[in-house]
Amino acid sequence: MADALMDIPFWWDAAPRADIAESPFPTQTDVAIVGSGYAGLSAAIVLARAGRAVHVFEKDRPGEGASSRNGGQASGNLRVGFGDMIKLYGLERATAIYREGVEARQDLARFVADENIDCDFQEVGLFRGAYRAKHYETMGREADLINRHLGIDVQMVPKSEQHMEIGSNLYHGGMVRPEISGVHPGKLHHGILRVALEAGVIVHGQTEVTGVRRDGEGHEVATLRGVVRAQNVIMATNGYTGPATPWLQRRVIPIPSQIVATEHLGKEVMDRLMPKRRMLGESRSLYNYFRPSPDGESILFGGKVGTITDDPQKKAQQLGKVLSEIFPELRDVGLTHTWWGYTGFTFDFMPKLVINDGVHYATGFCGSGVVWARWVAMKAAYNIVGNKAAETVFAAEDFVTKPLYSGKPWFLPMVYVWYGMKDRLGL
Ligand SMILES: Cc1cc2nc3c(=O)[nH]c(=O)nc-3n(C[C@H](O)[C@H](O)[C@H](O)COP(=O)(O)OP(=O)(O)OC[C@H]3O[C@@H](n4cnc5c(N)ncnc54)[C@H](O)[C@@H]3O)c2cc1C
Repeated sequence: MADALMDIPFWWDAAPRADIAESPFPTQTDVAIVGSGYAGLSAAIVLARAGRAVHVFEKDRPGEGASSRNGGQASGNLRVGFGDMIKLYGLERATAIYREGVEARQDLARFVADENIDCDFQEVGLFRGAYRAKHYETMGREADLINRHLGIDVQMVPKSEQHMEIGSNLYHGGMVRPEISGVHPGKLHHGILRVALEAGVIVHGQTEVTGVRRDGEGHEVATLRGVVRAQNVIMATNGYTGPATPWLQRRVIPIPSQIVATEHLGKEVMDRLMPKRRMLGESRSLYNYFRPSPDGESILFGGKVGTITDDPQKKAQQLGKVLSEIFPELRDVGLTHTWWGYTGFTFDFMPKLVINDGVHYATGFCGSGVVWARWVAMKAAYNIVGNKAAETVFAAEDFVTKPLYSGKPWFLPMVYVWYGMKDRLGL
């Protein structure tokens, strides 16, 4: 393993982050959007195409947050499984929620094609390995429900046939979700930014928003470069939400996730380890997500590596160790990059579109925002322009917080210990 890894996203090699030319600071606008990830820019495109003046304010370089750092699994995954969701909300609502995932995934694929976004969009499907034999049984029941109610051809792969999906003995079989794709997240972000600029959106980089205040029918948005008056405001800061919006900060849980990239492994090894070049995941509580690089030469391996250390280099070594538990032949593999970013979770594990005190919030993508961030934020934009496409199952009145929570997830170390124990003991 290399001594010091490049502490920079693998994706930035082909899609580097760049400062954007500075535009004059506005005194007023129709819509102010905070955050320039998939969410902020996707809402901006809808609004600009509907004739609104739109300014996006980003405290760093455009796309510097999770949108150029993620694993590129366009899953539209929901943390609550379909079976559990039926128990929680009943069959009709659970089906509506999962159906919206199907629609959102298809809409992303259509958008990428229509806008000629060159982002290595690969419709390869996803294999999710069962970490315990009993997980395979649960997955089987989930697959039946999904196939019956959503018409997706989810397939179960027994352990005896697992090597056709993954060159590992760690799993007890698994499930193939054929409708899930892979994408180059950095190139996707570049593409969405290009479309937004072409639509007339003005993006202000290095412009941190420090507060939003209701002002009559509109809002005053304070930034480090001045104050702008906006008729509407969309907060699209997700896992990077800070003290500028305390109401949101109390409701979003920033959870770090880290990825490592291996050196080139060569076709023969990749054919053995990832024969179908699918996206990959697993069923353990401290789950890992992994995939081939778009050129199929390397492995990108991500996970939540606990809170014992804050040092990304040490966390990268931990990830390398887990990678070699899955693929023992990678014990001595070289790693070229490591990087991390914040995902934004909610206490009920559901994405949210909420309007509070006149401000629209599109957030809580729970680590699956490649599909959801764009989708939910577009709903916010449609709501502002009064388009009936605003309808969504994620429009929420209840966006709960917990006592003693103000934006710093002090409980995470305990959650990691508990999840780790569940994984080790098979609870
Ligand atoms: C390591 C990692 C792996 C992931 N893997 C996957 C995956 O494989 N599949 C998947 O679907 N999802 C994945 N995700 C999640 C996904 O990347 C996010 O859900 C999605 O990018 C969120 O987009 P967004 O636009 O809402 O937020 P972000 O892209 O995070 O953008 C928020 C922006 O707001 C800006 N900001 C914050 N506060 C302010 C302020 N006060 N003023 C101005 N700007 C501000 C930030 O600088 C940031 O650029 C992953 C995330 C991480 C970190």
